[in-house]
Amino acid sequence: MSPQELITQLRSFLPPEAVLHETEDLKPYECDGLSAYRQLPMIVALPHTEEHIVKVLQLCYATNTPVVARGAGTGLSGGALPHAQGILLSLAKLNQIIAVDPLARTARVQPGVRNLAISEAAASHGLYYAPDPSSQIACSVGGNVAENSGGVHCLKYGLTVHNILKLRVLTIEGEVLEIGGESLDSAGYDLLALMTGSEGMLGIVTEITVKLIPIPEKAQLVMATFDDVQKAGNAVANVIAAGIIPAGMEMMDKITIHAVEEFLHAGYDLEAEAILLCESDGGTGEVADEIERIFTIMQQSGATKIRSSQNEAERLSFWAGRKAAFPAAGRVSPDYYCMDGTIPRKQLAQVLQGIEQLSREYGLRCMNVFHAGDGNLHPLILYDANQPGELEKTEEFGGKILEMCIHAGGTITGEHGVGMEKINQMCTQFRSDELAMFHAIKSAFDPKELLNPGKAVPSLHRCAELGAMHVHQGQQKFAELPRF
Ligand SMILES: Cc1cc2nc3c(=O)[nH]c(=O)nc-3n(C[C@H](O)[C@H](O)[C@H](O)COP(=O)(O)OP(=O)(O)OC[C@H]3O[C@@H](n4cnc5c(N)ncnc54)[C@H](O)[C@@H]3O)c2cc1C
Repeated sequence: MSPQELITQLRSFLPPEAVLHETEDLKPYECDGLSAYRQLPMIVALPHTEEHIVKVLQLCYATNTPVVARGAGTGLSGGALPHAQGILLSLAKLNQIIAVDPLARTARVQPGVRNLAISEAAASHGLYYAPDPSSQIACSVGGNVAENSGGVHCLKYGLTVHNILKLRVLTIEGEVLEIGGESLDSAGYDLLALMTGSEGMLGIVTEITVKLIPIPEKAQLVMATFDDVQKAGNAVANVIAAGIIPAGMEMMDKITIHAVEEFLHAGYDLEAEAILLCESDGGTGEVADEIERIFTIMQQSGATKIRSSQNEAERLSFWAGRKAAFPAAGRVSPDYYCMDGTIPRKQLAQVLQGIEQLSREYGLRCMNVFHAGDGNLHPLILYDANQPGELEKTEEFGGKILEMCIHAGGTITGEHGVGMEKINQMCTQFRSDELAMFHAIKSAFDPKELLNPGKAVPSLHRCAELGAMHVHQGQQKFAELPRF
């Protein structure tokens, strides 16, 4: 079907302003948070209701038109990158909190609801929604489900998959699936877990039932300064080994500390090689006890300075620096490329050294800011896309970081998804029979491969062309590997 015919069909059931096709109207949708990759869609559809989405999908299915879902477009792996011959399906207008049930401690929300809006709506009941990506003021819950997003507090409270109960999902044929339930387990395969993190490739999420938990009575933060990254890495391991599960445990390296401090004046120590932020939350007595233990462990691990927040304003200001690390990168460099590998905590110092070495080799600065408690690294490679060849050099540097994560026994994504950005590294992470299984699952849901095609799961042909060497679960010993 020609683009004009598709537009006419879409306008037969969507309001005229909900179908965009002029270049200037398509421009805002050409990329997500990973601005290095850009592509204009053929058409943008902005449905207002689930019935609208059903009709869009039925049209796509009947005409073999690719369809890419988009929430708020804050994704960092190119997951919502449009398809040139496809419809970009924006879920932004489905932004209603349908119900908050304080007794069941749940909320039912549409996919375009902002993450933070759930906690705002539940606050009057003393409840909140735990997963808190740093983008939470903007990102949508539908996007969070599709990426299985985490955040600062997921070490203690889990990722999105641990905090949702039920999904309403539309298949590419426009059929409604109700997945999950009110009870802890259900019969059959766990489709809720399968759908969570499926990057818009198996279905379109149209309603989410999330779990709410009580707002903790108290939260307090310890900020510890280290003169050596290795010592900070060891401190992380020592806290966990002591049986403490902090509400958040974040680390920043020197270059990040400077970028953030110049931007926000959060009170970070500019002499530090690394700063650890470690939060405790819960009952007042429990927090006081945990903070004392964390303080002692930081001292024993060689921290040069330790402060604990004395009030809520100070706690928030300590966090403000960490939460603004990405914008701070944007202040010190024309462009940045955010990676998202995860490694076993014990490998932190070694992998950070490897990244530093790569940074010198490529002549590109790299800020390291990350969820240290879960070993989820976010190296931000600073580059200038206007310099010829610099993006390609950055991609190569980023690819080597991800491969280093696999070699260290980790994975290529902790929470941002594979999207377009990490698709080549999937060939290193998985064997061809594992990838074939992913393709079989995809075709069970989407036999015509119309939902977000070309993302997240590489074709076997692509992997063969790359000649990627598969490394399973870091079987090769990291210490024995050649340094990049
Ligand atoms: C400054 C900054 C900080 C960030 N911090 C974090 C962090 O701490 N933790 C974290 O996990 N992420 C973080 N992110 C990444 C991003 O915010 C998350 O991945 C978020 O979940 C994306 O939500 P979105 O609504 O913007 O989704 P989009 O970017 O619009 O889409 C992401 C993917 O989800 C699919 N999708 C969207 N909606 C639906 C739907 N309804 N049904 C099916 N598929 C759908 C899209 O096709 C795409 O593949 C950060 C991003 C930025 C810019």
